[in-house]
Amino acid sequence: MNPPPFEISPPDMGPWLAGNTGTPGVWRWVADEPGRHVMVSALVHGNELCGAWAVRDLLSSGLRPRRGTLSVVLANLEAFARFDPQRPHVSRYLHTDLNRVWGDMPWRHDGTATGPEHRRALELLPHVEASDWLLDLHSMHEPGPPLALTGPLAHHAAHAAALGLGALRVADGGHKAGVRLRDHGRYGRAEAQEAFALLVECGYHGARSSVDVALDALARFLELSAVVDAADIPRHWWRDEGPADAPLLVVTDAVTVAPDSVPAFVRPWKSGDRVAKAGTLIGWNAALPVTTPYDDCVLVMPTLLHARPGATLVRFAHEANPS
Ligand SMILES: [Zn+2]
Repeated sequence: MNPPPFEISPPDMGPWLAGNTGTPGVWRWVADEPGRHVMVSALVHGNELCGAWAVRDLLSSGLRPRRGTLSVVLANLEAFARFDPQRPHVSRYLHTDLNRVWGDMPWRHDGTATGPEHRRALELLPHVEASDWLLDLHSMHEPGPPLALTGPLAHHAAHAAALGLGALRVADGGHKAGVRLRDHGRYGRAEAQEAFALLVECGYHGARSSVDVALDALARFLELSAVVDAADIPRHWWRDEGPADAPLLVVTDAVTVAPDSVPAFVRPWKSGDRVAKAGTLIGWNAALPVTTPYDDCVLVMPTLLHARPGATLVRFAHEANPS
């Protein structure tokens, strides 16, 4: 199966690779007035270019916080440096997925911290833990509508709704393979009501539209955080269409690729596809049928592209009950 064509190339990050904090690729500005510490991160996966384009616009715009602190993080610079337009999917990471190493970080103590992503996570850790709000910009292996991944906590989903992104909002617990940046520390604790993290999947890795989605998410996030005023934000960052507020999708199951499995789907599914009947055959995993667990099941990020054992094949979700 061939991935769809790549329409975008990597931005020249030039002087923006350096950072101004002593950590390469990490920028921070502090306003005189108090306020939130807002972090925007891109390139947690080295081949997800939309966030790099958006962050380059942010950095070159000269935008500075009016209140609080603004941090900008270019996360996996080593993987990004190896981006190859002929093989755009292989520079996701070098050794370990940088979006599966957070949380309690057992790898710090059990001798498994061997790769550049472990070193990089420790460099980024104090910046992440100093932040109050986090926008983490990503893109996806497959074409599909933008997704706002809110994690399992209700106050994150509520803030995400207030952004008005027009993306499918998905409440999910992450991956068996490890903790995501967006779920790290306070961002994963229900009592930390002042903390808000959002992972936006802006569309397919190679889609030109993913850059527009990333900039729109950036504009809305900065405005809602109050770190800047709306009038400070370049007008062209916002997308024109007034997005409808779709119901929250709650992920109940993540199907993980089984050992020795070469999974298959009965048809090319995409995020947001809704399957009416429980027990409908979706595909095959280690020769076992994968079926929907309930009526009106919504598929989230079905993909065969990186379908190695232990990776997530598809997630099942239902609409949250209106409260
Ligand atoms: Zn990603």
